[in-house]
Amino acid sequence: MARSLTAALLGSAALAFAASAAWAAEPPAKDAVSKADRALHERVLTLDTHLDTPEHFARRGWSMIDRHSVAEDGTQVDWPRMNAGGLDGGFFVIYTGQGELSAEGYRKARDFALNRATEIREMVAAHSDKFELAYAPADAERINKASKKFVFQSIENSWPMGEDLTLMQTFYGAGVRMAGPVHFRNNQFADSSTDKPIWHGFSPLGLRWLAEANRLGIIIDVSHASDDVVDQAVALSKVPIIASHSGAKAVYDHPRNLDDGRLKKIADAGGVICINSVYLKNTAASPERLAALKALGPAPDSETGTEAEIVAYAKKIAAVNVKYPPVRATFEDFMASLLHTLKVVGPQHVGIGADWDGGGGVVDFEDIADLPKVTARLKAAGYTDADVAAIWSGNVLRVMQQVQDYAAKAKTPPAG
Ligand SMILES: [Zn+2]
Repeated sequence: MARSLTAALLGSAALAFAASAAWAAEPPAKDAVSKADRALHERVLTLDTHLDTPEHFARRGWSMIDRHSVAEDGTQVDWPRMNAGGLDGGFFVIYTGQGELSAEGYRKARDFALNRATEIREMVAAHSDKFELAYAPADAERINKASKKFVFQSIENSWPMGEDLTLMQTFYGAGVRMAGPVHFRNNQFADSSTDKPIWHGFSPLGLRWLAEANRLGIIIDVSHASDDVVDQAVALSKVPIIASHSGAKAVYDHPRNLDDGRLKKIADAGGVICINSVYLKNTAASPERLAALKALGPAPDSETGTEAEIVAYAKKIAAVNVKYPPVRATFEDFMASLLHTLKVVGPQHVGIGADWDGGGGVVDFEDIADLPKVTARLKAAGYTDADVAAIWSGNVLRVMQQVQDYAAKAKTPPAG
């Protein structure tokens, strides 16, 4: 989840899609993908480590089975486009936007996150011929062989766990296999990369969160965490860690991106950096654009608003986009971040987590239907078929296996 400035202005994080609706007014020119590259893309197991699509599962009139388009409703992932783009599965995110660090705030966040987990289960249950929940690397392979899409679950922002670490077992029980401690703002567990440090890394409770993640077999995800948190996670985790949707600071200097030293640090510890399609260049809006967006007033709520209201609002944003076009990164920028990271850490430590439905998508890389272009570019850059397979899933599943093997052996008593 990486909320655009526009979405923040709209006052409804869940409506990030509306902001992007008009950006696809003209279909982008497509990179040609050769038959051989397309065949390779189909052959390898592919996953994305950060799919924010669960935000749409409860939208009235919206179905994961229908083909949608960025132009119409701003969404980037559904079953037909998973097939079009050759995406076999991924980590579907239980994201909770940071709020109050109080008993009441924790309670609301907990209920919100548990409800989101339920919505993921409901989507899978409603389409059990097309999707299946996955809990371990072997599940991904098996589900793929059965011609279904595998659905891992991850948590973005552990705020919903409050100060009760037994909730980690609850979420593990619900199937969560990866979790990040923090989002845009500091919380009870850790400092955010986009906030002023208060803990200078993990809090004391956050250190127990980390140990409990190791004990349960939940992959630690450091995307959004401060540099100190990244360093401490690498040093203290008993198993490799992941950055589920991050990028190279050498390509664009932003607090959400990782410098070469930290890319290497994560890789040296066996971890994987999955490349984001956000924070690739300075896309700050002009004052005129900001004022025009603000003048639109609040966006309709994605769950209580009608589809007509949401579409009408997206059209208003489209008009603003025509008058004051947003500055956007391109597929070239995404590839620059991916290829730079590959150069720094090698093909055994890179994955793909483009933040689809969470603010991701760039010019010429608007939704998951464009994924085969990445495979073509990797081949053009000289990477082998085995490298491509490792980048698309092998590396992440390797870490997942290590994390789960450790938990199976650890058998330590649960945290109180
Ligand atoms: Zn995010």
